[in-house]
Amino acid sequence: MIQLYIPLNFLGVIYREIKQSLTDLDKMFTLMERDREVADEPDARPLMVKAPPAVRFENVVFAYDPSRPILQGVSFEIPAGQTVAVVGASGSGKSTLARLLYRFYDVQQGRITVNGHDVRHLTQDSLRRHIGIVPQDTVLFNDTVAYNIAYGRTGASREEVEQAARSARIHEFIAATPKGYETMVGERGLKLSGGEKQRVAIARTLLKNPPILVFDEATSALDSANERAIQAELAAVAQGKTVLVIAHRLSTIVQAHEILVMDAGQIIERGTHAQLLNANGRYAQMWRMQQHEG
Ligand code: ADP
Ligand code: MG
Repeated sequence: MIQLYIPLNFLGVIYREIKQSLTDLDKMFTLMERDREVADEPDARPLMVKAPPAVRFENVVFAYDPSRPILQGVSFEIPAGQTVAVVGASGSGKSTLARLLYRFYDVQQGRITVNGHDVRHLTQDSLRRHIGIVPQDTVLFNDTVAYNIAYGRTGASREEVEQAARSARIHEFIAATPKGYETMVGERGLKLSGGEKQRVAIARTLLKNPPILVFDEATSALDSANERAIQAELAAVAQGKTVLVIAHRLSTIVQAHEILVMDAGQIIERGTHAQLLNANGRYAQMWRMQQHEG
């Protein structure tokens, strides 16, 4: 299996190879995984939902490499329209949950369902249309800022693109460049900082406005003033959606319906913020440490 989370400079090299004709991130992944096992079943069905759906992980076992188990029987549910947060040490398997839900990989045991449908029985296209991920590291296309934001929803008007950019606190930065939204970004254009890229990714997801949202340490590269401002926007857009938040700063997930604490590919604690503080285990320890730092 080809690694998906390869260094960004390597992605840049691949991207330059792929050229203009390629405008679709999923297609890029398809090209990179030519002999991958994730493919639509012959009788795969499109996911159709009228409201944000329930998402379930049922006893999920997964390894990128058979010799090294990563997820070792992970079960949880995000009830329709609710928010589940995942915290835990780096390397504990948090981002892997997001990659499996988006079906970059298939589980080896157990299953992941959306409104009761195993994601392996759904078309990848329809599944991915319903999910918006703000990843830890955003890869932008060698195209205009407008294109990179509108990629969330092709056909969006300039006003809608701008509105999303304002909500993601990136509009003023864009407006201050000589070509504004027509500024080229990426390899051959304007280089954006990690925080700026993250805000473009947030704008893209706000514009896509899907029923399932995944924030993977989505504001980790932002300064605390921007983080606070954007957290408010994310909380507003997440209202009533089915949301998986992978959080670095615990203060951002206090309101989650349930918090899962991961360690070495397993959920070691779960509950609300108050319950976990009461339990006085790993979460409470992390919380005290972050209070101290803050
Ligand atoms: P977290 O998000 O909690 O930091 P990840 O889910 O990204 O952790 O990774 C869990 C483990 O899987 C880590 O040890 C990481 O090195 C490994 N891993 C992640 N992606 C890959 C990959 N594409 N190939 C092999 N191992 C990977
Ligand atoms: Mg991660």
